[in-house]
Amino acid sequence: MIPAAFEYAAPKTVAEAIALLRGADSGGKILAGGQSLVPMMRFRLAAPNLLIDITRIPELRIFKEESGYLRIGAMVTHGELERSAMVGERYPLLASTARVVADPIVRERGTICGSLVHADPAGDWGAALIAARAQAVVTGPAGERTMPLDDFLVDTFTTALGEDEILTEVRVPTPPALSGGNYQKIERKVGDFATAAVGVQLTLSEQGAVEAVGIGLCAAGPVSLRATAAEGMLIGKVLDDASITAAAAAAATQAEPTADTRGAIDYKRDMVRVLTSRALHAARAAIRA
Ligand SMILES: Cc1cc2nc3c(=O)[nH]c(=O)nc-3n(C[C@H](O)[C@H](O)[C@H](O)COP(=O)(O)OP(=O)(O)OC[C@H]3O[C@@H](n4cnc5c(N)ncnc54)[C@H](O)[C@@H]3O)c2cc1C
Repeated sequence: MIPAAFEYAAPKTVAEAIALLRGADSGGKILAGGQSLVPMMRFRLAAPNLLIDITRIPELRIFKEESGYLRIGAMVTHGELERSAMVGERYPLLASTARVVADPIVRERGTICGSLVHADPAGDWGAALIAARAQAVVTGPAGERTMPLDDFLVDTFTTALGEDEILTEVRVPTPPALSGGNYQKIERKVGDFATAAVGVQLTLSEQGAVEAVGIGLCAAGPVSLRATAAEGMLIGKVLDDASITAAAAAAATQAEPTADTRGAIDYKRDMVRVLTSRALHAARAAIRA
């Protein structure tokens, strides 16, 4: 099917893009990599009057560490992040996520921020960046506001973004010493969305106790989920095999997957348990190494 007719604009600044959104009176949509929006338009699940192409806005290409955060601008693609040596060295959770998002072709065009705004509960970045305790930076006519990603991701395909706002960047806290992270995903074939996936970000004390932990669950409910019970039971504990097993079981209990062609509810819930355990083991091994 071909998309419905639409107007097209390619602003050069964020301010221009916001003005265009306002002027479109709810009929405008931001176009970033187009990897979710274009298929939706082709199926006529989306029919915007105006496409606002943000690929030519230089300020949205920011991708650097600053003031204790990694700043990932709206036009940073999965592929760019995957190839970054800095991410590979200091953000292993993000590096291991980027490698398993879609396929190389989609990764070259699709953006991390576009994926977050799309808010598919089976999207990998929601779970990974909840684990990383990332912040969403939203810009609109009234200026900029920042919120935890947990608050940005509201429900299936629903975010806290207003109609005239843009997700201009996500900020990921730079992990302190003795930190590790990992993303584990099970998929039917390369390039598929997750049957289940789990992201873990971990910081240990010199004695091996858990000082900070984030656990995000993908395809485990109507929205990317934080495994709060599992996180709570790990804080202050020595991260041994017993505490990992208990936390993985708690994450599985909190998961609310639905049955579909990728698997039954019990199977998916058990995969959450297995993948949480694997991600915690991998994060701990990275710290020890
Ligand atoms: C074959 C295929 C396989 C895929 N597999 C996976 C997978 O395994 N895992 C996974 O997580 N994803 C997967 N995806 C989805 C895809 O990776 C992301 O959803 C996509 O990259 C979204 O980013 P984009 O830049 O392409 O966004 P677009 O498609 O351009 O936009 C998506 C939505 O977000 C809005 N938007 C985009 N950027 C902004 C912004 N900065 N501010 C405000 N609104 C914005 C758009 O208006 C639109 O509503 C797959 C997609 C395809 C086509």
